Amino acid sequence: MSPTNPEPVLKVEGLRKSFGDNEVLRSIDLSVAQGGVVALVGPSGSGKTTVLRSLNGLEIPDAGRITFDGGPVVNFGSGASKRELAALRDRSAMVFQHYNLFPHKTVLENVIEGPVQVQRRPKAEAIREAEELLGRVGLAEKKDQYPHELSGGQQQRVGIVRALALRPTLLLFDEPTSALDPELVGEVLSVIKELADEGWTMVLVTHELAFAREVATEVVFMDGGVVVEHGPPETVLRDPREERTRRFVHRLL
Ligand code: ADP
Repeated sequence: MSPTNPEPVLKVEGLRKSFGDNEVLRSIDLSVAQGGVVALVGPSGSGKTTVLRSLNGLEIPDAGRITFDGGPVVNFGSGASKRELAALRDRSAMVFQHYNLFPHKTVLENVIEGPVQVQRRPKAEAIREAEELLGRVGLAEKKDQYPHELSGGQQQRVGIVRALALRPTLLLFDEPTSALDPELVGEVLSVIKELADEGWTMVLVTHELAFAREVATEVVFMDGGVVVEHGPPETVLRDPREERTRRFVHRLL
């Protein structure tokens, strides 16, 4: 294992998924290195979110395999077991487009829910860790407030803290800024950038190509349920090989 070419933390092979007649993923391969930041980009409906949700067991693919380094190997198609899916879910944490916070719980209660209820960690320890994480994103003062009392940007920062509190191997972001007013996008992107700089491994679905260019170690361009091309941002986003990528990138950058 060399620092320039570390073993992948996550490997996805031949992932397929249909919803009825709609073949949404047509054999997706993907690999994420330790500390890597993979940006999934592409037109709406190309299957990006379905890939992300599959990594977290929120969507069950029809075929293919997901392997976590030193952890679960889940083979779909032949019937992934409940235990395998639970192990898969344990490895990653998702930050959702619409935050998905519990409206009737305070910020702190939202953050400790997973660690205490799902992971069965001691409550006092979960609270201590939640308070520390909230402090890091500038929300220490908001811990006893309810989601509706916060701005969208603040709610999404809570969404990020909630994911971090699960101590995942992999962070998944599903268009984390697309529900935000433009003036609130920056505060969320800067938290994501800090996490990337700290070495968190992440997969990010985003329309923010300028941001992807800045933080991603690898950009994966999807269209029509396939990976059209992937590589470093300076290649895929500046000088793509494929015409389909070129058209998409030129429209957005
Ligand atoms: P993207 O994230 O690239 O916009 P998605 O993965 O969200 O693409 O969706 C890909 C396709 O799958 C779309 O045609 C969408 O309508 C369809 N799709 C996604 N989720 C479901 C679902 N739960 N049921 C039926 N169709 C779905």
